[in-house]
Amino acid sequence: MKKLVVAIDGPAGAGKSTVAQLAAKELGYTYIDTGAMYRAVAWKVLQQGGEVTDEKILAVVPDIDVDLSYENGKTTVRVDGRDVTGEIRTPEVSHIVSQVAALGPVREKMVDLQRKMAERGGVLMDGRDIATNVLPGADVKIYLTASIAERANRRYKELREKGLAVDLADIEHDIAARDKADMEREISPLVQADDATLLDTTGMTIPEVVARIIGMCR
Ligand code: C5P
Repeated sequence: MKKLVVAIDGPAGAGKSTVAQLAAKELGYTYIDTGAMYRAVAWKVLQQGGEVTDEKILAVVPDIDVDLSYENGKTTVRVDGRDVTGEIRTPEVSHIVSQVAALGPVREKMVDLQRKMAERGGVLMDGRDIATNVLPGADVKIYLTASIAERANRRYKELREKGLAVDLADIEHDIAARDKADMEREISPLVQADDATLLDTTGMTIPEVVARIIGMCR
């Protein structure tokens, strides 16, 4: 069977990475989590300490080495050789990542890497601008969403399971702010591509969503 290029976009906490990983495994495809790449840049900016300014963000772009590898169903993210897979998921990183991702030089560098990773096909890539900008020629395009309450709840449970002391209202507030920033930015804003299929996962189980995605790829 032809190895497809699958693009999945959608707002924060829609469950993209969870279902995309499972679907990729079942299809035997490589999963590419583009959000992790922007998080990696944000992580490096936070290492500098102090206030996060656009100047500081732009200063890390030229030399940063962001490496994403996917092996045995697991994504590993490295920044300048250091494994930051766990550290990029903190609320601190989530809080500044949209500011980082709004800047042109950051996006240019990440999009270049993303296109190279998709060259050989057999990839399932998730993010915000995959169908509209990174891979407009993708074979399958899906816009995955869910109600804000459900998305906040899912993220809350995920972070609690990791042992982080988080507050549901804070998470909902953060997700809403991130969606607004991602949808209203000038460069490659989050929008459903004209030719993408809308998949609202509110009330759906993970296996149901995965089955729908696999169905669209077959
Ligand atoms: O997918 P995740 O929530 O980890 O993405 C983190 C952030 O990275 C998003 O809120 C968005 O600002 C940015 N992003 C982006 N373009 C992508 C993927 C993520 O701007 N393709």
